[in-house]
Amino acid sequence: MSELEAEKTLDFIRTRIQEDQQSGKNDGKVCTRFPPEPNGYLHLGHAKSICLNFGIAQEFGGLCNLRLDDTNPVAEKTEYAEAIQDDLRWLGFDWEDRFFHASDYFDQLHSWAVQLIKAGKAFVCDLSFEEMKAHRGNLIEPGKNSPFRERMVEENLELFEQMRLGEFPDGTKTLRAKIDMSSPNLNLRDPVIYRIIHQEHPKTGDKWKIYPSYDFAHGQSDSLEGITHSLCTLEFEHHRPLYDWLCQNLGIHHPQQIEFARLNLNYTVMSKRKMLRLVEEGRVNGWDDPRMPTLQGMRRRGYTSKSIRDFCEKVGVAKRENVIEVELLEHCLRHDLNLCSPRRLGVLDPLKVTISNYPEDKSETVDAVNNPEDPDAGTRPVPFSKQLYVDRNDFMEDPPKKYFRMSPGREVRLKYAYYVTCTEVVKDEEGNITELICEYDPESRGGGTADGRRVKGTIQWVDASTAQPCEVRLYDRLFNKPDPEKVEDGGDFTDNLNPDSLEIIHHALVEPSVTEISIGQAFQLERVGYFCLDSDKAEDGKKVLNRTVAMRDSWAKINK
Ligand code: ATP
Ligand code: MG
Repeated sequence: MSELEAEKTLDFIRTRIQEDQQSGKNDGKVCTRFPPEPNGYLHLGHAKSICLNFGIAQEFGGLCNLRLDDTNPVAEKTEYAEAIQDDLRWLGFDWEDRFFHASDYFDQLHSWAVQLIKAGKAFVCDLSFEEMKAHRGNLIEPGKNSPFRERMVEENLELFEQMRLGEFPDGTKTLRAKIDMSSPNLNLRDPVIYRIIHQEHPKTGDKWKIYPSYDFAHGQSDSLEGITHSLCTLEFEHHRPLYDWLCQNLGIHHPQQIEFARLNLNYTVMSKRKMLRLVEEGRVNGWDDPRMPTLQGMRRRGYTSKSIRDFCEKVGVAKRENVIEVELLEHCLRHDLNLCSPRRLGVLDPLKVTISNYPEDKSETVDAVNNPEDPDAGTRPVPFSKQLYVDRNDFMEDPPKKYFRMSPGREVRLKYAYYVTCTEVVKDEEGNITELICEYDPESRGGGTADGRRVKGTIQWVDASTAQPCEVRLYDRLFNKPDPEKVEDGGDFTDNLNPDSLEIIHHALVEPSVTEISIGQAFQLERVGYFCLDSDKAEDGKKVLNRTVAMRDSWAKINK
């Protein structure tokens, strides 16, 4: 670990790992893993787990594996498996050649199951899932032993072999560990370790008719890979005694499971199952909808991977459930975008401006600063001529006292260009403003004047003949309640969807160089917000801009 890192106060997981390393446990080695189930796309919660597992490996000079937990062929797809790898690379992490599947270990897991049977520690049970549930008891009452619990080893071996060969239909038999039906921990009440599933597996094809349970696969996979610290979320705390029991009773390398609180974000659902529903019910436009908290959605929205890593670091790890404010995420995003994103000019609600004293056939370019935070980013030429557009928001015919933007007779600066004064307001028959006639001061090029006169307002603009029309998609929160799960009786989280989470602006205008920025890379439209080009075109063929995030940082204000 670098000195700088050592100086930071360590969280409870890192403290524990440091102690283990210093005491020479596992020969001082640290090995972690990220174990997603390929049954959906990764979301921000996974990013927290990724940053933690890969981050710890880096900090302690260890390794972090990627392992797909592919034990349930019913819900898993290769599409998901590929997206998981793509997202991880995008987030900035590398598992080198350590890409594993729980299914790589099916043979070994099967022989360990046989080992347990031979030791009298597992039995084939004929109870249905309903019967098993009825036998299980609850937190107050102990469970009842299965009538099949005392089957002889030979019979168990034979039945388990028949299960493997596919001789029984799904759900008719299971293999259960023989632990303790009266244990206060329900997970130790003879848990199922193998179930019959007649389903092809993406990796192992039709080889297996039986599949290990999560509990039987997970810890043993950790063990096989020499994982030292198996970090998982709090809901697995009650599984730890089973994790330990299995490692001990199989007599294999025993990783330490440590639980931490999952990431919860307000105004957001953080569960693949719920996200799948949003996708399947057409509430959003796919897993990569820019409103989704999936990494694919966030990338399309213009999030940088750095901002997500920073967010995960700021959130830290805790032992208790908590809810993080979405403003913190947006703050991390704005902070990074402010440093790295190019600036451009654009208007979302264009209002025509004609400069009456500007020569008819003249056009020129002015130099605009690419990024005031980055001196190396230089400037770019932006076209300027007699016909321009400004944003309708930046003009008021009859302004209040402290309004410094455009109004009749008030001089303002057109950013990077000239001082202009509105001399006439043109309206249509209904009284709507259709155009502003302005005069400019030819001496004020670049923003200063000969007499040192100052103006209070500076506004953005685009040149009419070269501006690029585009569709702009403004996103708001997907849910309008801080806790989307909180619903009236009989309702569900979809009741809290925000009907106004997407607003489309059809006729925005941006300076021509915007179209040179690559898809998904966020830039700032000065004074408007951060945006990025979408991979899709609009229905009318125009380019689409996604608003990544608005300018105002409410989190920084409150938490100064
Ligand atoms: P979901 O509830 O969304 O289906 P999951 O936990 O079932 O998530 P997995 O693919 O099993 O998803 O998760 C892979 C890893 O990511 C696990 O170690 C899990 O604990 C972790 N993880 C999942 N969600 C979160 C979260 N919200 N915060 C932190 N870690 C998470
Ligand atoms: Mg899961």
